[in-house]
Amino acid sequence: MNMLKNAQIAIVTGASRGIGAAVARRLAKDGFAVAVNYASSSNEADALVAELTAAGTRAIAIKADVSNADDVRRMFEVTEQQLGKIDVLVNNAGVLKPMPLADTSDALYDHNFDINVRGTFNTLREAAARMNDGGRVVNFSSTTLGLNMPGYAIYNATKAAVEAFTHVFAKELRGRKITVNAVAPGPVATALFLDGKTDEQIQTFANMPPLQRLGQPDDIASVVSFLTGPDAGWVNGQVLRANGGVA
Ligand code: NAP
Repeated sequence: MNMLKNAQIAIVTGASRGIGAAVARRLAKDGFAVAVNYASSSNEADALVAELTAAGTRAIAIKADVSNADDVRRMFEVTEQQLGKIDVLVNNAGVLKPMPLADTSDALYDHNFDINVRGTFNTLREAAARMNDGGRVVNFSSTTLGLNMPGYAIYNATKAAVEAFTHVFAKELRGRKITVNAVAPGPVATALFLDGKTDEQIQTFANMPPLQRLGQPDDIASVVSFLTGPDAGWVNGQVLRANGGVA
């Protein structure tokens, strides 16, 4: 193995499947050692780590619920012990269950805010103390925030909070040469988007962007690769909407 390969360390939350798994694969290809975080999909996470390891990447799977501060602290500790001090944090873990605000239970509200908002808060707070100077943070918002579609009130509220974290945290890290940005995908063909939708509903979403298709996880992984790579060094505190032109 090239001695320089995997000299930099990335944590990708929610990387067992969907966009997070594509991001983990892409960052491994870009030369990062990768901590693959997941909450419950241990088989998928272990399989991804085996795949990355076989390709010469230093990779570990870490079970941690991002909404739990102790889990997140342990995730950073284990990553430091097994891979090294963190250079890149990708806050990808998230949940969505579209539902009119009037029908949303207290439990569903808490679930969305616990994972999407508190989860991002937990990792950002830990990263502030533990990341290498010169590092990169990529949070996950959503293009739905700009579309204001019925059913997305709670989800959009969580992503508005993530965008607020992004803008302010970028400034709070002054002097550390760490950039903090967010990517806001449009509809991407993952379980989060597809589950619970009819073929007709999926087709309607696919036709929304002028590029006339759903996004694929690799479309978003490419954007994360840019934001964590050398060419994005002057991009800071921004939200990059990657959605085929839907909004
Ligand atoms: P997905 O396919 O449902 O995957 C979600 C990932 O998050 C899984 O790996 C899951 O792991 C993990 N996760 C869920 N709860 C977690 C927790 N409490 N702690 C740690 N990991 C947790 O979702 P996706 O479509 O890839 O979405 C990824 C991100 O993109 C989310 O932030 C989402 O809001 C955003 N996004 C997606 C779309 C889209 O159309 N797909 C559009 C805009 C934005 P387990 O299986 O182990 O729980």
